Amino acid sequence: MTVLDLLAFGAHPDDVEIGAGGILAGHARRGYSCGIIDLTAGEMASNGTVPQRQAEAREAAGILKCGVRECLGLPDARLAPDRESVFLVAAALRRWQPRVVLSPYFQGDRHPDHNAAGELLGRAVFLAGLRKLPIEGEPFRPQRLYYYLLTVDLLPDMIIDISSVYTLKEQALDAHHSQFGRHDGEMVATPVNDPGFRRHIRNRDAYFGSLAGVAYGEGLIFNTKPLVTDLIAWSELK
Ligand SMILES: [Zn+2]
Repeated sequence: MTVLDLLAFGAHPDDVEIGAGGILAGHARRGYSCGIIDLTAGEMASNGTVPQRQAEAREAAGILKCGVRECLGLPDARLAPDRESVFLVAAALRRWQPRVVLSPYFQGDRHPDHNAAGELLGRAVFLAGLRKLPIEGEPFRPQRLYYYLLTVDLLPDMIIDISSVYTLKEQALDAHHSQFGRHDGEMVATPVNDPGFRRHIRNRDAYFGSLAGVAYGEGLIFNTKPLVTDLIAWSELK
């Protein structure tokens, strides 16, 4: 059975690239097995068809060296942490058995789906470990859940250095032509295909990096407090 080290969930097919693309590329380069699961196909986006978005998502996963990319087919713009959706996500966790899970943060995002995704993952990570629930697969609970940031104005608990893979993150974002490509007559102008959006991502990554003394960083928020037994090893920071 394939078991993943790191599995990142997004509400839409470009969320993971925006908030954690560098983390995935960096860990894949270190030899960890990484994957992405999109909760919805992003069918309510102003631009791009579902087949187009699926092809873009596959291309981006290839750039980030993620061997797994799935779409769970939950409803875009109506994502909710209801029992059925939570069990579907929990079944995916049981199927891929990731050691570490990444999810959008669950509060304060302007897109309600991002908040719902965070809530959904918080529930699914716990419930996947309960053996008596009627969830497909064997009981399994990931070691850790961390939240990445989309349009949430928060400072992270932890910064991951993504400087050495930054071009891969940008290429993965470029793969989503239908979302971030220059809008012409065919495409509807949206906040995300305005050049300011990509500038915002780059500026934030540079800002998070600067907080830790590196060129680019992505930030994560802890779901549970980190447990440390060796304070010296933990303190061997740059
Ligand atoms: Zn999104």
